Amino acid sequence: MAHTSTAASTPANTVEFGPATGLSCRECGALYELGPIFACTECFGPLEVAYDFGEIRREDIESGPANIWRYRSLLPVPAGVTAKPNLQPGWTKLVKADRLAAELGLRSLHVKDDSGNPTHSFKDRVVAIALEAARNFGFHTLSCSSTGNLAGAVGAAAARAGLDSCVFIPADLEPAKVTMAAVYGGRLVAIDGTYDEVNRFCSELIGDELGEKWGFVNVNLRPYYAEGSKTLAYEIAEQLGWRLPDQIVIPVASGSQLTKIDKGFRELIKLGLVEERPYRIFGAQAEGCSPVSRAFKAGQDVVQPVRPDTIAKSLAIGNPADGPYVLDIARRTGGAVEDVTDEEIVDAIRLLARTEGVFAETAGGVTVGVLRKLVREGRLDPDAETVVLNTGDGLKTLDAVAEHARPTAVIRPSLDAFRAAFAN
Ligand SMILES: *Cc1c(COP(=O)(O)O)cnc(C)c1O
Ligand SMILES: [Zn+2]
Repeated sequence: MAHTSTAASTPANTVEFGPATGLSCRECGALYELGPIFACTECFGPLEVAYDFGEIRREDIESGPANIWRYRSLLPVPAGVTAKPNLQPGWTKLVKADRLAAELGLRSLHVKDDSGNPTHSFKDRVVAIALEAARNFGFHTLSCSSTGNLAGAVGAAAARAGLDSCVFIPADLEPAKVTMAAVYGGRLVAIDGTYDEVNRFCSELIGDELGEKWGFVNVNLRPYYAEGSKTLAYEIAEQLGWRLPDQIVIPVASGSQLTKIDKGFRELIKLGLVEERPYRIFGAQAEGCSPVSRAFKAGQDVVQPVRPDTIAKSLAIGNPADGPYVLDIARRTGGAVEDVTDEEIVDAIRLLARTEGVFAETAGGVTVGVLRKLVREGRLDPDAETVVLNTGDGLKTLDAVAEHARPTAVIRPSLDAFRAAFAN
């Protein structure tokens, strides 16, 4: 591939990537210099960031800023990242969800609520890391193929950093996501096709001179981008008092987030920042796009691509790049991958809103719905410490619940009218 040889000649400045020392192939272990590359030239396996961590102490992290940069010594970013213009995502709330726990029959449950990020989804975390890589490699345009949330996160991050942006989405996204993707002033291109087709188009664009000097956060910057999801693992552990949860339910689109949360937990153990203990990882998909869940249930190692049809559009990736790793992790940790119907997604959004005052987008309905299903089927330990992720804001997918969330009454402004409306 043409871009691979270009990348190899880019001088890697390890200082600018903090503790990162290179890229290594997940499949064969081949090592590469830090560059805008993402696939192993030996075996086509995905590349991931390799590190040489020094001693890292809890106190140093705790005295850091209230955003993902408190973990900069664990990320491929320069120490000076805190002073650069970026959206400073992260350090979102870990909500102690006692009322939802009671309703589901769980002893201890927390909701990690990532709707509190600057563009209201977890994607600000991954984009912030990719932005640093784009700066290091001298890219002038930030780009992505997106199921919706990523486009908004890239547009906003580029605007703050003063870079150009050009983002690509499937044309049938929720109106709120289209508006958010466009409002930051970059170029937004809607493509008549599925996310997987948009993604394939972006891979072609990278190889063409049209895409020269472009950093596609989830393609040629994917190894860096993916590391941003580790911050969810770090935050959950720190917010639990430097402890890993026993079981966690994570949404699966490409599977990158789930894979990197596991990586984050393992790093914390290895660095002695948390005590080693077994944890179980559960992946959550929508039935209308459940290639990983299907493979899990069928006992297969390969993931058969599907054509998505679900209201959980942010998770609608029919050919998930990290699907096989999700299967490995679910099986290794004693977890599972499960799916829920669109109806169960809507019910779960309403359940979370009604019990905890958290309004989730459809992806949050998927995780809470899967949590409920797993508890009902006795596949989650009701006495174990459980965390469920909400990765996006309900305002982005209003249509999912709009018909269930109407005014209780419409009246004239008089006590009589109010009394009449509520008289039994
Ligand atoms: C992108 C996204 C995810 C997870 O995506 P992965 O590709 O699996 O990392 C989860 N929730 C929301 C709301 C998202 O936008
Ligand atoms: Zn390889």
